[in-house]
Order: sequence, then C-alpha cells, then structure tokens
Amino acid sequence: MVDRNAVYPVPETIAKTAHLNQADYQTLYRRSIEDPEGFWAEQADRFIDWYRPWDRVMDWDFHEPRIRWFEGAELNVSHNCLDRHLETRGDKTAIIWEGDEPGETRTLSYRELHTAVCRLANGLRMRGVRRGDRVCIYMPMVPEAAVAMLACTRIGAIHSVVFGGFSPNALRDRIQDADCKLVITADEGIRGGKRIPLKANTDAALKDCPGVETVVVYRRTEAEVEWVTDRDIDYHELVAQADDECPPESMGAEDPLFILYTSGSTGKPKGVLHTTGGYILQAAMTHHYVFDYHEDDIYWCTADVGWVTGHSYIVYGPLANGATTVMFEGVPNYPDASRHWEMVDRHGITIYYTAPTAIRALMRAGDEPVKKTRRDSLRILGTVGEPINPEAWNWYHQVVGESRCPVMDTWWQTETGGIMITPLPGATDLKPGSATLPFFGVQPALMDADGRELEGEAAGNLVIKASWPGQMRTVYGDHERFAQTYFSAYPGCYFTGDGARRDSDGYYWITGRVDDVLNVSGHRLGTAEVESALVLHSTVAEAAVVGFPHDVKGQGIYAYVSLMSGKTPDPALKQELIDLVRKEIGPIATPDVIQWAAGLPKTRSGKIMRRILRKIAANELDSLGDTSTLADPAVVDELIDQRIEPK
Ligand code: ATP
Ligand code: MG
Repeated sequence: MVDRNAVYPVPETIAKTAHLNQADYQTLYRRSIEDPEGFWAEQADRFIDWYRPWDRVMDWDFHEPRIRWFEGAELNVSHNCLDRHLETRGDKTAIIWEGDEPGETRTLSYRELHTAVCRLANGLRMRGVRRGDRVCIYMPMVPEAAVAMLACTRIGAIHSVVFGGFSPNALRDRIQDADCKLVITADEGIRGGKRIPLKANTDAALKDCPGVETVVVYRRTEAEVEWVTDRDIDYHELVAQADDECPPESMGAEDPLFILYTSGSTGKPKGVLHTTGGYILQAAMTHHYVFDYHEDDIYWCTADVGWVTGHSYIVYGPLANGATTVMFEGVPNYPDASRHWEMVDRHGITIYYTAPTAIRALMRAGDEPVKKTRRDSLRILGTVGEPINPEAWNWYHQVVGESRCPVMDTWWQTETGGIMITPLPGATDLKPGSATLPFFGVQPALMDADGRELEGEAAGNLVIKASWPGQMRTVYGDHERFAQTYFSAYPGCYFTGDGARRDSDGYYWITGRVDDVLNVSGHRLGTAEVESALVLHSTVAEAAVVGFPHDVKGQGIYAYVSLMSGKTPDPALKQELIDLVRKEIGPIATPDVIQWAAGLPKTRSGKIMRRILRKIAANELDSLGDTSTLADPAVVDELIDQRIEPK
C-alpha cells in the first residue's frame, strides 16, 4: 500500500553536492519576489551571454496584456548554446543520439554540432530564409531536428516544430497559420519498428500551402519518396554546398524565437509565441536548478522535440548550460520494457526526465525488466506532463531509483516556457503526487469561481500573479485571443487552465485541467478539436467529447455522436469516424469509445452539459448531480443505458 502522507527528505548524498539547500531556496525565492529586477538581472548575467545589455529588466501589465523582458538587450540563442562553449567544451559531447534499434548511436561534440548548425543556417539563407521568416520543422527524433532549430535561431528565423505524429491536415493548418516559407522534414521517421511517412505527409499538407518555397529532406531511412523539382532539396546536398562559418545574427531580447502550437478549449490550435532573451534564460536556469545539473552529468529527457518539453529540456536548456543531452528516437517498450533502463546503463545517464504515462506503462510490465539493469548512474529523476498518481510516483522512486534518487515532479506548460512549480533536489522534501513549491519568481495563487483569491489550505483555479521571463508573449497573429484565453477569467492574473490544491505546508497538488482540454498521455487535446473532426463527417449531426480516467494514458477520449436523422449507426461508420479523427489530427486523438447518442443533454439555452457526459463516461452514475435544468432529462437515462465500458 502507498502511504499517501509520506514525506521524503533530501537524501544525504544529494545534499552534499547540491547547488542549493532549503535555506538557500527560501532566501533566493524571497529575493526573487521582493526584488525581481535585481534578482533577474543577476540571473541573466550569470546564465546568458549578451551582445548588448538591457535598458530595462521587465515591463509587463497583465491587464493589457503586455509582457517584455530585457528590452534593448541583444543576444543570439545558438551562440549561447554553441559558440560560447567551444573554447572550454569544444570536444565535449553535446548530443548522444540513440536510434530506434538498440545500439544504433551517434554522438556530436559541441564543435561538430556548431559546424552542422552553421552549415544548415547558411543553407537556409541560400534558400532565401531571412530574419523573421517562419520555418516549419516536421522531423523524427534525430540530431538534425535540434540542428534545424538552432540553425533557425542563428539567422533569426522563427521555427515552428510540428510533432511527427501529427497528420497532414494538422501539419497544413499549422504551416498556414504561421505562413511558413520553408519546411524541414525527413523521408521517414521510425518509432518502435514502425515507419512514419513524413515526406509523404508533407507533400499532402503542402497541396494547400502555396507560401512554402522549399522543402529540405533529411534522409533517415533512404526510402523512395516523391520529389518536386525546384521545391525539394536533399538536406545533405544543401549543407554540402554551404559554408561552415555563419556569424550569428544579433537578436533583440523580445524578437520572436519560436512558435509552438498547443490545444486550447476551442477547436483551433493556438500558436504560442516565445521570444528570445527571457525564454533562453528560463530554460537554462530551470535546467540548472531543477535537475541540480553538474558539468559531468549525462542528462536524458525522453520527450519529443515536437513538444515544449523537448524544446526547453532536450535542446535549449541543456545546451545553453553546456550539458550532454541524450536524444532517443524510439519508444519505451521497444524492443522490450527494459529499453530505457538499458540505455541508462549504456550511456551512464545521471538525470532522467520522463512522463507519468511512460512510468505507468513501464510499471505495468512489472519490476523484472527494471531490476535486471543496474541504474547505478542515476542521481535525479523527473516527471512532467500530467498529475502523477502516488502509486506511479512510488514505483518510480523505489523500483527505478532504488529510493536513492529524488523525483522532481515539475508542473509547467507550453505557455510558461519553462518549469514553474517544482521541487529542487537539495532543497525540497518530497510528497508523492505534489509538484511542491514555486520556482524563483513564480507567484502562484488559487482562485474561487467568483474570482476571489483563496488563502492557506485551499483548492481552486491556479493562476500566476506576476510575469516571469519565459512567459509566452502572444498567440501568433491573434493577440485578442491571448488576452481572452489567459487574462480575462481573473483580471490582472495569468490563468493556467488547471485546478490545484494547496496543503498546510504550502505545497501545490495539481488536479488537472478545468477547461475543455484533455490530457491524453501527457498531450493536450481540445475536446473541441476532436468534435470538429467528427462533425466533418456528412452523417454526423453533433458530437460531444469528454475525457475519462485511463490507467495508462491518464485520460482517454469518450465521444458521444448524434447522427443526422434517417442515418443508422453501424461498426463501419465507427471506423470511418476513427479514421477521420486520425486524418484530421493524428493517432494521438483516436477516440477510445464512440457511443451513438440519439440526443445530448442540453440546457434550455442549448448548451451541452459536459459535466453529465463526463460522469457517464467515468461510470460515476450516482453522482450525476442536478439534471433538472435540462431541456429533456430523459436523454440522460438513454445515454446511461447505452453506455460503453472502455476497454
Ligand atoms: P509537452 O506536452 O510539451 O511534453 P507539457 O505537458 O509540460 O509538455 P503542455 O502540453 O502545455 O506542456 O501541457 C501542460 C499541462 O499539462 C498543464 O496545464 C497541466 O494540466 C499538465 N501538467 C504538466 N505538468 C504537470 C505536472 N507535473 N503535474 C500535473 N499536471 C501537469
Ligand atoms: Mg503535455
């Protein structure tokens, strides 16, 4: 049995070498709140190389909203991640890459990575990419994905990385929204032995993207692919022609660095825009403190570069700190459930950062695949993406880390750029399932439904009361949506969309999304996105999508579908709908359950009562709550009768 009240103090071995202890954390945290300008100026000096200093540390107003950090300063992110390390760390390994098949590895030193980035940056320029242009990166997990990101930053182009699991239609929407000029992709990706036709997907997406002038194709598998002469160019050919010296552009601190699309509570994905100075500082500094990073660590974050975790904690944070970062192309259970632990042993990994969904999947395979490996190099463990249930936390702590390695449960979002609520290895007593305390400069608060701040022990909606350097600056091309989504619910505060509880020690326990956003295997999906895909089908009149608790995925997708009158449901139609969602969004959005619904529970004003649909999906039938305000309460009984138990 799991002791839900257990507290795990800082292990002595960690305390001996940790950058900060508990008193340090408290002093620094207080300073970061009382004197943010002084605090951030010091951190910016320490972690980042600037070509020109700032005129002003910060200038923000959540009412407008306007957010600016280090205005007037100039820097270049690729310089910070590469050039400044060359003198002391030129031969140090920057990236250890491991392919889908065990033992297939490559390493790149800082010098080699620098050369690769310079060449591609020049190659992009040769194809007409200029400062401020948008470049889409739709790549498998190969070092060239990181090279592509860094090459963009070197010349001041704005990258938009699209996860390789997204469908051609999802890719098309993102390319169009950002008006990308060039796409960097690969012939195919490989994950868990399966091929992903990235180039074919790109070709399909580009049918409706006339603005794309060039497609750079990295050869991962050497598969035959279609070729559009004049538009397509082989990655190797491009870099072979390019010079290996490329002076970095001097960028303004508030110049855009990248766009990354994330789900919101409406159907259209949001282009989260991050800028240069604040973001790279947040990424570097959190990587240093949260993982208690030391020079000889071998650091592995198992995310994909298509997600923000991959941006901040595979590429930018670790490389800014001159770390050795591991990139893995495959999946945790291929060829078997020992894969991650074997990799830990083979590469001597000291810091391992993953997601609860992976931990739960590996926990299901039992202890044996873990125990047959040594894992004695591990020092620090981390988790991100969704609330971690105490059972999974305990297994991670006891079985994987042999009770020796503290678990950093890090809460943050695409929008926050970097980690926000988290323990620090040498400073924080741990409680399984709690993300614990705010990082420096972060001022969380809990709000009730009426917008009143709750004090002390409480549960409510999580907001942040003051800006931090890594905060997103706008929704690309739609500042009004930025204002509406994040700053309208609680005027003067940033609303996270998450609910949380604060205990008597001031520890935060994130309870999950409070808006219409699902968290499936740590990936955000808007219920409206899935619904919009379903109603594209000509026979579908209406669809309502909710999440339900799922053992491995955290949340599964339960869809209620009403058909046009005269249409009859059948299994073939169900398959068509599943295919449609996969085509529109990608396999991650595949509904677990589709229930045919003659009617949906609606209020008299016509709003779907999702709360009731959620209860039915979760089989919590005795807590349906008040149904008397429904236009037709009888539909609820029918939905209950025909409820489908998820597999
Ligand atoms: P990525 O999906 O890019 O790997 P991410 O999960 O950190 O990274 P988002 O996709 O933006 O970023 O998802 C953020 C949401 O995930 C949060 O709003 C919250 O609901 C959930 N989340 C992230 N980390 C935690 C955590 N440690 N505990 C609880 N919930 C978390
Ligand atoms: Mg996520």
